[in-house]
Amino acid sequence: PTKLRVSEAFLDAQVGEKVRIQGWVRSFRPQKQNLFLHVNDGSSLKSLQVIAPAAMNDPLLGFGCAVEVRGILKKSPHSKQPVELEAEQIWVIGECNPDFPFKIKERHSLEYIRQFLHLRCRTNAFSSLLRIRSEATAAVHSYFKNNGFLLVHTPTITSNDCEGAGELFQVEPPGTTFANEGSFFSVPVYLTVSGQLHLEVMSGAFPRVYTFGPTFRAENSQSRRHLAEFFMVEAEISFTESIEDLTKVWKSAFTAKIVINCYPKSYIFLSPLHLKDTLDDMLRKSFPVITYTEAIDILKRSSETFTFPTDWGCDLMTEHEKFLVKHCGNIPVFVTDYPHDLKPFYARDNQDHPKHTAAAVDLLVPGVGELSGGSLREERLDLLRSRLGECGLEDTYSWYLDLRRFGSVPHGGFGLGFERYLQCILGVDNIKDVIPFPRFSHSCLL
Ligand code: ATP
Ligand code: MG
Ligand code: MG
Ligand code: MG
Repeated sequence: PTKLRVSEAFLDAQVGEKVRIQGWVRSFRPQKQNLFLHVNDGSSLKSLQVIAPAAMNDPLLGFGCAVEVRGILKKSPHSKQPVELEAEQIWVIGECNPDFPFKIKERHSLEYIRQFLHLRCRTNAFSSLLRIRSEATAAVHSYFKNNGFLLVHTPTITSNDCEGAGELFQVEPPGTTFANEGSFFSVPVYLTVSGQLHLEVMSGAFPRVYTFGPTFRAENSQSRRHLAEFFMVEAEISFTESIEDLTKVWKSAFTAKIVINCYPKSYIFLSPLHLKDTLDDMLRKSFPVITYTEAIDILKRSSETFTFPTDWGCDLMTEHEKFLVKHCGNIPVFVTDYPHDLKPFYARDNQDHPKHTAAAVDLLVPGVGELSGGSLREERLDLLRSRLGECGLEDTYSWYLDLRRFGSVPHGGFGLGFERYLQCILGVDNIKDVIPFPRFSHSCLL
């Protein structure tokens, strides 16, 4: 008999034919005369009902085991499921030990499921997450492709540290002492914390470039929004004159079909249904834009109801960011013009502002706080050179200065954490639940 993918069984085309399916038993009800099972083969979230005479029961058969079933596909008398498989033979391919941590019909919490990293893809909740993550990945690529961006594979191993973007993982072959001149690359190298500088190289010839890949930071943090390995979507756009030019593309990348495409039926296993409507609604609105200085004023005015003091010149903490999002109506908000001293050398100096700020922007979203950060880059050679000089980095970044010496143009870009994006659209509280194999301090088991 032909092998049937369970997702195709519901297309009706093969009703009346003899077929075979291979999958896992998701429900199991032995009754006096008949045996009822639901078999899922991973081709979709759907399971196919199998009916067999009670005599076909096998002690090895049960919830969680792997089976092959052969039989005739029939129209079902019940409206709930259009077709069912009348079994002629059932083989247990792999039995399921009774200590399988997931129980039939139980809705386990993501936190419980996370204890079993190697088994969690067998739950509806986590398999749904994986489907959505895969859809969202494809949607990111199609957004950028459809909007004229060139995909650049920025390197994973790099000698630049992106100046303060994050804590570095240094890499060398086993047995190398880092001080050793004979080390593999002859210079210290790291796992990338951001592809930005490499994208800037490309933006001297391609006006729209992006990259989307793993990023590494030795975060010493047990936070719900930091991982040691996460995926980042980064874009760089040339001939960008203003922050508005940048936030326009930024918003459209964030709200584009990416989100809409992310809603196969799997959503219901993961998130409260109302979230989808709230989210669709939220994304249609225009996002407020406030300056960092206004943000600090808001936070200081609210200091009676809010216990995290701050002052002009301090970086925003997660609590500040979440507060600002709520204050702005619980929708995404752009915060612009951070203090110049808080930002790396490449952020464009806002010389005309009374306070010394840089043209740097963060996008803050409900539930997460910072989703994305970006800036206009300093395209003026003299200003860049003196900033690098102040930081003692003129030699290290002589190649970067070259980018400004040979046909410099105003440009800017942003980096968006893909896991934080998934957290935001799915309302998932902990970042460890939106990546297949989370890495964080003291945890890299699998
Ligand atoms: P945070 O303030 O939350 O530590 P950041 O300002 O250090 O973030 P950026 O250097 O601006 O991060 O990186 C761009 C984006 O990458 C961030 O806006 C965030 O979405 C994501 N990101 C940064 N660090 C992490 C991390 N450790 N785990 C997951 N995502 C991260
Ligand atoms: Mg950080
Ligand atoms: Mg930050
Ligand atoms: Mg940032």
